[in-house]
Amino acid sequence: MNIAFIAHDKKKDDIVRFAMAYEKVLESHELFSTGTTGKRIMAETSLKIHRFKSGPLGGDQQVGALIADNKMDLVIFFKDPLTAQPHEPDITALIRLCDVYTIPLATNMATAEILLSGLQRGEFKWREIIKEEKQYDEL
Ligand code: PGA
Repeated sequence: MNIAFIAHDKKKDDIVRFAMAYEKVLESHELFSTGTTGKRIMAETSLKIHRFKSGPLGGDQQVGALIADNKMDLVIFFKDPLTAQPHEPDITALIRLCDVYTIPLATNMATAEILLSGLQRGEFKWREIIKEEKQYDEL
């Protein structure tokens, strides 16, 4: 599965702790992130992450582009609901694309825990089927 990690500044410690807690599960997946989030996770775990630009510089849109191409299976996005973000339109667009393409999205740790439990139980196999069907449609 391709999994994206994004965390606003005040949530970065939380996403690092989350990645540490699920490191064993995550290491068998393809991981992506916005710039600083990925840097923090890689500094404190042994996970390898494809890092995009920082969120305010277009990283959220780069994740969104993969969603639009049906190449992202799960998005873990620890949003800070108490701080205004300069790239609010990009955040809204990313969340919208998850809904357009029915991509599982967690915007807080409680939901992220449930999605990772589902991932461990193999409950995201349907994504593989959708990806295969989509590739067939595009031929
Ligand atoms: P960052 O971007 O990981 O580069 O901090 C996250 C964001 O603020 O969207």
